[in-house]
Amino acid sequence: MGKWPLYYNEKMETIDQERLRSLQENKLKRQLKYIWKNSPFYQKKFKESGLSPGDFKTLEDLKKFPFTTKDELRVSQSQHPPLGDHRAAPMEKIIRIHSSSGTTGQPSFVGVTKHDHRVWTELTARSIYTQGIRPDDIVLHAVGLTFFVGGLPVKDAIEALGAAFVPIGTGASDRVATTAQLLQANALHCTPSYALYLAEYLRSKLKMEPSELGFKKIISGAEPGAGVPSIRKKIQEDFGCILTEGLGNSDAAPIIFGECPNQKGMHFCAQEFILCELIDPDTGEVLEMEDDATGELVYTLIDRECCPLIRFRTRDRITVWTSPCECGRTSFRIRCIGRTDDMLIVLGVNVFPSAIKDVVSSLRPKTTGEIQILLDKPGPKVDPPMKIQVEYSKNITDLHSLKHEIEGLLREKLVFKADVDLVPGGALPRYEMKAKWIRKLYEE
Ligand SMILES: [Zn+2]
Repeated sequence: MGKWPLYYNEKMETIDQERLRSLQENKLKRQLKYIWKNSPFYQKKFKESGLSPGDFKTLEDLKKFPFTTKDELRVSQSQHPPLGDHRAAPMEKIIRIHSSSGTTGQPSFVGVTKHDHRVWTELTARSIYTQGIRPDDIVLHAVGLTFFVGGLPVKDAIEALGAAFVPIGTGASDRVATTAQLLQANALHCTPSYALYLAEYLRSKLKMEPSELGFKKIISGAEPGAGVPSIRKKIQEDFGCILTEGLGNSDAAPIIFGECPNQKGMHFCAQEFILCELIDPDTGEVLEMEDDATGELVYTLIDRECCPLIRFRTRDRITVWTSPCECGRTSFRIRCIGRTDDMLIVLGVNVFPSAIKDVVSSLRPKTTGEIQILLDKPGPKVDPPMKIQVEYSKNITDLHSLKHEIEGLLREKLVFKADVDLVPGGALPRYEMKAKWIRKLYEE
């Protein structure tokens, strides 16, 4: 990477944290006044809490302000179509509308003004540059372009930083293979599930090794997989590449965190645009950001015109590190363990599907790494033993001892009792976008 600058925005990425705090404080003061004037939703919400923008004097005061939840945004949108009464910019200023597909059917829309678009492009380009993409790279985009924020905004960011963007889309693995070779593309943007799927596809359908495609960099996101050690190891070995991950949020911004090639967690890359808090997900109490602290990530947008968010609960469970990274970036780093919605609780112990996937994948090549957690009633509480289907590899004959080995390892590492049902390799579904590690056996 020698010939390119180390940073996309050196001033912001290496800013002194005290200076950043005062910058964020000033921007949030301005943002609160703007919202108070323009967003009926927030005006009402603040009034109900007996607050006005004047009550925010220093960053310490932020915790007096109420949280915003995804459900509130949904209600706001359905009662005040098209974008909800949290919207703070007139329709004439809005240039694009994105949506999260959502699990409940109704899409939730996010409007973007020209200013918001510039902000999104800057912070997303910063994250992607941090992930190792440089102007002379050719990036195949094996992710959808429509609707969601991981599509067009990522295209804008990759083009803004000067790399060549190749829109492939999803469900086009043959096209990925031929285009990669014809263009000698060296980078791929996809979900970790897709990278795993593509490796299998190349070997079984095209009789070629994934490393023959020549990708040196894979940038991933949209699900926790790329940060799961055994999944990362497999993708990097299969493709002969460095895998870095990013994290965004469809209501906040496309890619807010980007991992540098030192792979010690994702750096916060939206310094002057978003303020992050770490909270206890049960009590809402603000937690100190320090090495190995865990909790829920909360975003406050401090430079947003159309769809502002104050203390938005992401439901992302993260671990934080603040100790310096060798790359010189001064921002804190995180790893996303999973989403609150995916979390299971077995006799009081929190279990994330990504952790189960990691344990099972660590037993490769005895297992293929594929799992399905079977729930016969709605979670998060699961009565032990938790039923988990695990794929075994072709040449395994002693299934009895493999079952015991997996159950023993799950008990030792994740402290819960599992009942493992071994199924032959290839029996479980594969996913080209986000993997679904939980199968619900009950009627919803
Ligand atoms: Zn770093």
